[in-house]
Order: sequence, then structure tokens, then C-alpha cells
Amino acid sequence: MSDKSQTPGPGTLAVHAGVEPDPTTGAIMTPVYLTSTYVQDGVGNHKGFEYSRTHNPTRTALEVAFAALEHGTHGLAFASGLAAMDVVLKTLRPGDEVISTNDLYGGSYRLFTTVFAHYGITFHFVDLGDLDALKSKLNEHTRLIWTETPTNPMMQITDIAAVVDVVKGTATRVVVDNTFASPMLQNPLDLGADMVMHSVTKYLGGHSDVVMGCLVTSDDAWEDELRTLQNSCGAVPGPMDCFLVLRGLKTLHLRMQRHCENGKAIAHHLSTHPAISKVYWPGFTTHPGHEIAARQMHDFGGMVAFTLADDNLQTAKRVVAKTNLFTLAESLGGVESLIGHPATMTHASIPREVREKTGVTDGLIRLSVGIEDAQDLISDLDNALEQALIRG
Ligand SMILES: *Cc1c(COP(=O)(O)O)cnc(C)c1O
Repeated sequence: MSDKSQTPGPGTLAVHAGVEPDPTTGAIMTPVYLTSTYVQDGVGNHKGFEYSRTHNPTRTALEVAFAALEHGTHGLAFASGLAAMDVVLKTLRPGDEVISTNDLYGGSYRLFTTVFAHYGITFHFVDLGDLDALKSKLNEHTRLIWTETPTNPMMQITDIAAVVDVVKGTATRVVVDNTFASPMLQNPLDLGADMVMHSVTKYLGGHSDVVMGCLVTSDDAWEDELRTLQNSCGAVPGPMDCFLVLRGLKTLHLRMQRHCENGKAIAHHLSTHPAISKVYWPGFTTHPGHEIAARQMHDFGGMVAFTLADDNLQTAKRVVAKTNLFTLAESLGGVESLIGHPATMTHASIPREVREKTGVTDGLIRLSVGIEDAQDLISDLDNALEQALIRG
């Protein structure tokens, strides 16, 4: 950002981006345009809206907000995070190659390896923290680097600017799945990435009531191609969901601040707990990605994982069953706290030897720390740990 005085702060963007009073009624909030089609005064004579797969005013307002929050020019909304990814991959051609991280979200891994691998696209999975490993897979067919930081559930950090630097001046584009950080904590386009993707289902929506995805880029030619695919393939979100996310975005900065504060308090508390051997949270100076995280993120987020001292499946199952405030469920990023057991839930389809190599052992538990009162969340975890160990 060249001129700070003209750049609204993130909180101002969260409240105002994309939202203009309705020109016909003056309604302050964007109306939910529950319509599939729009009247034409004469053939081809319309107000910019013809059919809601192509354009819908509620969706347009949200897409403008996504672009503003990620400091990009173009925002595109999709029916889910994976639908957004699907369209990015459809810009590739047989023979093209993608390099991604070996600690990737399971659904992204499945989309790459069980869907797009059949269309002649080759995927390489490397530790993107190791730039030599990245360079070893890079060739003239590499079209995309697909990265995710922090990763799920081990909170590994990729140095976005360093990855961008490796492919600078080539035809390879860098996409960052920014779901775990949200635009309040990390803006990959500012670090040189070509595109940001979000599972809006998580922090952007923020209330566990919508499934949605988005893409943001400042690349005009790529946007044109993606917009055509968005309309051609049709995985668009409905106007009611767009309204819910517009509402959610208005408190994104406040929610993220609290997620971060609570995440920090819980990470520190758990790190002193005798029943826990290791806590994964990028805010710890001992975290292997801490220095990079401190540089490229504004704060460290509300995702925390920990390993039980006995690293035992039965103890882990008892802990996740004994919490009251932390609800046992998939997903993350909502106002309410969630607890999960990666080895049997999100990472169940990954072979034991493979998952254990990255640290996903039977005793690993993942928390999506919500915005409740930190002391209540800490007591809930303490009680669950105590009960799980007594019965053990
Ligand atoms: C949930 C998630 C996705 C997939 O998004 P959906 O909205 O569930 O389709 C992709 N990446 C990450 C990091 C996620 O957490």
C-alpha cells in the first residue's frame, strides 16, 4: 500500500466494503435479491443483470467486499471452497503441473488426486518450507504453486514471499489458501501471490451457517477466464447465503481479534499442563515457523493443536467426549469453539505412517477456539483432561 492515508483500515473495510445503500429504496443493508431473472426493456437492453447464475446484485456486493478485504481488484464467490478451487484448476490444460504442500487440507488433496489427476494434470506434494524441494519439482510445465498457511492441523508456516520469489518472471502462478488466517491476519496478494482462495464457510462467514468459497486476484486476464468458468460451470452461491456472509463480514475484525486473544491464552495454558507434551500454535517463539509467521501475519489466529503426553487413542477419545463448551465437530472458524481428533476425523483417510510423519498421531487434538470467555474455555479443557485421565 503506497498511501496509508487513503487506505481504509481492515475494520472499516469489514464494515463498509461492497455495501452501498440500495438506489431504489435507500435501504442501508444490501437487499437479498431472490430472483433468477431480470426484466429487459427491449432485446439486450438490461441494467447489467440478465440471469442470476451470471450476476446477482447481492452476490456482486459480496464479491466487491471479498476483493477489498484481500487488497485485490476482483472477487468471485462460489458455492463452496472446493467449488472455488475447482474453477482455478479448470484453467489448466492436460500436461500442466501443480506443486503443492505435503500438509494440505484433505478435501483439496482429494480434488487434486482423485478428480484432476484423471485429466492429465500432474500434482507434486513437497514441504514448501524447503525451497530446494520446491525448485526440484519446478519445470516449464509448472502452472501453479498451491499453498496453504498456516496448515491444518500442524500450523506449519509457508514463507509466501519466498515462494513467490522462486517463480518470479516465470509463467507459474502462486495461489494461497488463506482460510486459516483470514484477511484480517494475512494478505497474500500484498506478499506477491497471484491469487487468494478462502473457504468462506470458516472465518469469513464466521457463524457455521453457510458453506461458500471465494477467489480474489488482481490479474485481469485470469479474472476474465475465471468469471467465464464461474458462469459456465455454475457453482454459484445463492443470494440468501451471500447476505449471511455480508452480515458475517461486518464483525470479522472483532471476531478475529477475540479468536487470537483466546487462542493465545489457551495455547499458553495448555503448554504448562502436565497431561500435554506439545502445543502447536505459531505464536510460540519455539514454533518452527514463528519468525515467518510474525513477519507475514498480523496475529497468530485461533487454531491450536496439542499432543497428549501419553499419545494414546483412548485418552484422546475421552478428552474430546468430555468437553462441554468445545463441541466435537468438523470445520472451524465459527464463533463457537470446536474440538476435533484429526487422526480419526479430518485425516482418517491418510495412511498412519504418512500422517504420523507430519505429527498427526493418535494423541493429537485440534481446537478451533471461539469467541467465548477464555477462562470458561480453559476450565472446560481442564475438566475434560482431568476426567479423561482419571478414567484412564
Ligand atoms: C474447509 C476448507 C476448505 C474447503 O472448503 P469448503 O467450503 O468446505 O468446500 C479448503 N481449505 C481449507 C484450509 C479448509 O479449511
